[in-house]
Amino acid sequence: MDCLREIQGKQAHDPIFIEKMNTSASWRCICVPGPLIVGAGPSGLATAACLKEKGVPSVVLERSNCIASLWQLKTYDRLRLHLPKQFCELPLMGFPTDFPTYPTKQQFVDYLEAYAREFDIKPRFNETVSQAEYDATLGFWRVKSVGVNGKGTEYVCRWLVVATGENAEAVMPEMEGMGEFGGDIWHTSSYKSGEEFRGKRVLVVGCGNSGMEVCLDLCNHNARPSLVVRDTVHVLPREMLGRSTFGLSMWLLKWLPIRFVDRLLLIVSWLMLGDTARIGLDRPRLGPLELKNLSGKTPVLDVGTLANIKSGDIKVCPSIKRLKRYAVEFVNGRTENFDAIILATGYKSNVPSWLKEREMFSEKDGYPRRPFPNGWKGESGLYAVGFTKRGLLGTSMDARRIAEDIERCWKHEAKHRMAFTRSLLQQPSSDSSS
Ligand SMILES: Cc1cc2nc3c(=O)[nH]c(=O)nc-3n(C[C@H](O)[C@H](O)[C@H](O)COP(=O)(O)OP(=O)(O)OC[C@H]3O[C@@H](n4cnc5c(N)ncnc54)[C@H](O)[C@@H]3O)c2cc1C
Repeated sequence: MDCLREIQGKQAHDPIFIEKMNTSASWRCICVPGPLIVGAGPSGLATAACLKEKGVPSVVLERSNCIASLWQLKTYDRLRLHLPKQFCELPLMGFPTDFPTYPTKQQFVDYLEAYAREFDIKPRFNETVSQAEYDATLGFWRVKSVGVNGKGTEYVCRWLVVATGENAEAVMPEMEGMGEFGGDIWHTSSYKSGEEFRGKRVLVVGCGNSGMEVCLDLCNHNARPSLVVRDTVHVLPREMLGRSTFGLSMWLLKWLPIRFVDRLLLIVSWLMLGDTARIGLDRPRLGPLELKNLSGKTPVLDVGTLANIKSGDIKVCPSIKRLKRYAVEFVNGRTENFDAIILATGYKSNVPSWLKEREMFSEKDGYPRRPFPNGWKGESGLYAVGFTKRGLLGTSMDARRIAEDIERCWKHEAKHRMAFTRSLLQQPSSDSSS
């Protein structure tokens, strides 16, 4: 069963499979009275729940066979929420009080399942949206989806909510000599545990939160990880001064300018972690919060990886020049042998591949063009949830705003619908007038 589930989940992400299905599909048409939401991750669920609370029905389409497919199918076993639970809960329903500060991936999935049950959200699974376009003549969105059985459906709706996420597709960088390497090359979205790498030399490419944590996991399973660090990076302790670093930063920002808070974070980090540049992790020129605000680049919250780098259990390497047979040549001229490579190179939005619209979403990166906090609303009933680069906190803000906005139109149009129906009912029939 699990195997079938995994195959179906993978097919839903396979562009060749989708293309094949797209061309062989026979289409049927469904009119959606309320908004259509694309994606049943936390963002889609949060929006559906907020709408439901306001009495607006919605339809949710999901390409996978489960809710929160990113969390269920594409994350490693040891994953916990990076931020404390109070910053990750969705609108209208908190986490159970007995959950730890940093819930495990399974606890987070359980919470989302309970959330969907609570608000009676039943996504239409295995429906990959392949195209969505506004029909100005009709004044409606036409959204085409393809199921695993090849059946195509066209949905016609007044409001379209894009909730496909910042992590819709894995970013796989091209590296010279990739075909030559011989060992496994995986993206972190396929990595589950270090168990299968026991005793192996593994090169992890990318030093964000995932790359750092995968290295730690490999160490814990007696693999021999090395970490490619191409860029500067801010590593902060996950907790400082008895509070979560994220919570403390949010609190300080209420009173102090961002540069001052950044300075404070860096001093405390230096006292707790030492000078990270000495172990090959140079810090960016801008402070962690300012950099996050300007570029969206998230600081790494250390959960123990740094200690392993200091002890030499994780080696830091420069950029890759090229791959060779079971070996990697680095830009400093050194060549080292590896059995496997894990790409912790992140994800990207897939919106430009299916949404035929260029005003609200950028073709380049698939994010709303207008910066936070104004990216959630476009023209003609188009909305975006979960593209703020602010995690689940950003999702909650978007979901509430979208639901309020749609509710206004919904009520306004309902008044018109009722007035129209009343006028029809009150019109004397031709029988009685004669
Ligand atoms: C490893 C990892 C750890 C994280 N930890 C945290 C954390 O601790 N706190 C935090 O706030 N954030 C965290 N994040 C950020 C993360 O983006 C959010 O947690 C969250 O998953 C975003 O929800 P979402 O619904 O916007 O996107 P997703 O969870 O990616 O959901 C989008 C859904 O849309 C579906 N979809 C995509 N394209 C289509 C299509 N064409 N048709 C139909 N369906 C489609 C996908 O299958 C998916 O189910 C983490 C991210 C990662 C990768």
